[in-house]
Amino acid sequence: MERLKERILAEGAVRAGGVLKVDSFLNHQIDIGLCCEIGREFYRLFGGEGITKILTIEASGIGIACLAAQYFGVPVLFAKKGRSLNVDGELYVSQVYSFTHQTTSEVYVSRKFLHRQDRVLILDDFLANGKALTALFDLVRQAGAEAVGAGIVIEKGFQGGGDRLRAEGRRIESLAIIDEMAPGSIRFR
Ligand code: 5GP
Repeated sequence: MERLKERILAEGAVRAGGVLKVDSFLNHQIDIGLCCEIGREFYRLFGGEGITKILTIEASGIGIACLAAQYFGVPVLFAKKGRSLNVDGELYVSQVYSFTHQTTSEVYVSRKFLHRQDRVLILDDFLANGKALTALFDLVRQAGAEAVGAGIVIEKGFQGGGDRLRAEGRRIESLAIIDEMAPGSIRFR
């Protein structure tokens, strides 16, 4: 998506450890016009797939997922992070290692909101090593639902998570894939 790439080049800041900061339009302040265009692009890619639910992970996926969901006309479910109290097994729980925080945590959704009949589109802001997506695919598997694929705003291709998931047969659609970055230079695939 050209408009997204232009904003990454103009406003993205490359930080130590392979972290890209896009706080001015995606991760802190949110540009609603741009994110609606992102939502429409996800709808162009996945609108014909009979999606019944969008699944994301808190916190930064929620805004993107909600803006996209208005085009699909389906609910957004976000996986919660932190220690789950899985009393009576009423939750689906998976583990995720956070690249940005360098910790492992549990993520969970209520069984009430994910069902065998669901056709799920997973959305997130970033894809790096693929840990967050892997946990979300796992929650969908536990529910016996169908994961149609994942839509990602920015994939850091050099961290390999996206290509690993594609090699496993997952449909991963990223609107911008960065293959190389250093302070002052970003190269897209
Ligand atoms: P993964 O699980 O694929 O390694 O990392 C994806 C998650 O980590 C995303 O949900 C995102 O919130 C966060 N993340 C990974 N890399 C970056 C980055 O360079 N910048 C920002 N803002 N978030 C990132």
